[in-house]
Amino acid sequence: MTPKYKSYNIHALESIPYLQKMDKAIIEDIKIVGEIYPFKTNNYVLDNLIDWERGIDDPIFRLNFPHRGMLTEEHYDKLKWGRDRLAKDEFAELVDQIRMTLNPHPAGQTSFNVPFENGVRLEGLQHKYRNTVLYFPSHSQTCHAYCTFCFRWPQFVSNAELKFQSKELDSLIRYLNYNPQITDVLLTGGDPMVMGPQILSRYIDALIGVKSLRNIRIGTKSLTFWPFKFTAEEGHQEVLQILRKVTDSGKHLAIMSHFNHPAELKSDVVIDAIKNLRATGAEIRTQAPLLRTINNKSEIWSEMWERQVQLGLIPYYMFLPRDTGAQHHFAEDLRTALHIYKNAIQKLSGICRTAKGPVMSALHGKVELLDCVDDVFYLRYLQHRDPGMAYKVFKGREAIDNPKWFSDLTTVDKYEERYFEEVKRVEVGV
Ligand SMILES: *Cc1c(COP(=O)(O)O)cnc(C)c1O
Ligand code: SF4
Repeated sequence: MTPKYKSYNIHALESIPYLQKMDKAIIEDIKIVGEIYPFKTNNYVLDNLIDWERGIDDPIFRLNFPHRGMLTEEHYDKLKWGRDRLAKDEFAELVDQIRMTLNPHPAGQTSFNVPFENGVRLEGLQHKYRNTVLYFPSHSQTCHAYCTFCFRWPQFVSNAELKFQSKELDSLIRYLNYNPQITDVLLTGGDPMVMGPQILSRYIDALIGVKSLRNIRIGTKSLTFWPFKFTAEEGHQEVLQILRKVTDSGKHLAIMSHFNHPAELKSDVVIDAIKNLRATGAEIRTQAPLLRTINNKSEIWSEMWERQVQLGLIPYYMFLPRDTGAQHHFAEDLRTALHIYKNAIQKLSGICRTAKGPVMSALHGKVELLDCVDDVFYLRYLQHRDPGMAYKVFKGREAIDNPKWFSDLTTVDKYEERYFEEVKRVEVGV
């Protein structure tokens, strides 16, 4: 039987049967937090992933359903008060005000990395690292469901000013042809795998035609949120054929798959989807942020990585949640993160130790936390906008108690100050 995608937004909570058995206060919290952050779920997640016996303590529930702790008490109270007393437009203004305090564009995402062509900004492109371009197809500005911790949350809320996206596939292709040093394109979003076969093939065919391109990556959470995309949904065979064209053309296809918890790897549907994807010649690499309330235990990561390798997937990154949105709710401090990463890796055999981490995607690059000895943090950039800065170990110490992010650290030795350019910029408010 062909599965039917049925999604629920914040206004449809009452029609989710599972929620009717839960405490009314929990639903009230979801509604209030859902004023600020985007919410969406679907029938696959509800029926297959969430353990309703565990309810609000279930990690997949917490991954998908907003929680009161994602807002400060002050914001929560203001919203609750305003919802019952303010006029519609005044309330919308309050919502906007609160959103703007949540650092909607961390690490200079919109201003620093968008390339130009003849003086015109190429919206929808981000070119930060020499070899790799990120592309946000205008057709993938949504996901099959939303993650509560998503750092791209402003893209999904209706305020048009906060979004950035591309309508111009042609300008991407021109940019790639002008810049043959670019070997990788990462299609991202949202989730490019919300595209149907017709639209997807337009993007893929165009990319296959770029000679200098070697690797096409697709960032997706569809193996968690809608694996029927690759198994039984109408059009799934066409989707698989389009993906196969990439590997047939001699390019590498990497499905950069977002998994947060081993519970996402259990259903028969996801296992079939993985098999079908791998049969196209694609490699599936996995990445996820480390999150309190969802996956902040080393056993969760070791189980997840072990299971992934068994299914033929390649663990790639463990991220730390960025300084945006509900970071205060989800982020562990750097010492705890390091401890979880090391404990997880130490339990596993060498072929399961491919995930780099903990990694922070900061203003100038991806910073890997290597160790912490006697209050000195050892770090290196895995990627930097200046390639010469990558893979050199440098030291940091805490600028504030319980550091959770790169900008909470400061330099130990004066000659290493250039590694902390970012922190200086933030301090002067650039
Ligand atoms: C992570 C990232 C990439 C890809 O980096 P790899 O180390 O090659 O996986 C490219 N662009 C941006 C902006 C990124 O954050
Ligand atoms: S799947 Fe990715 S882009 Fe979509 S909500 Fe989750 S983290 Fe955000």
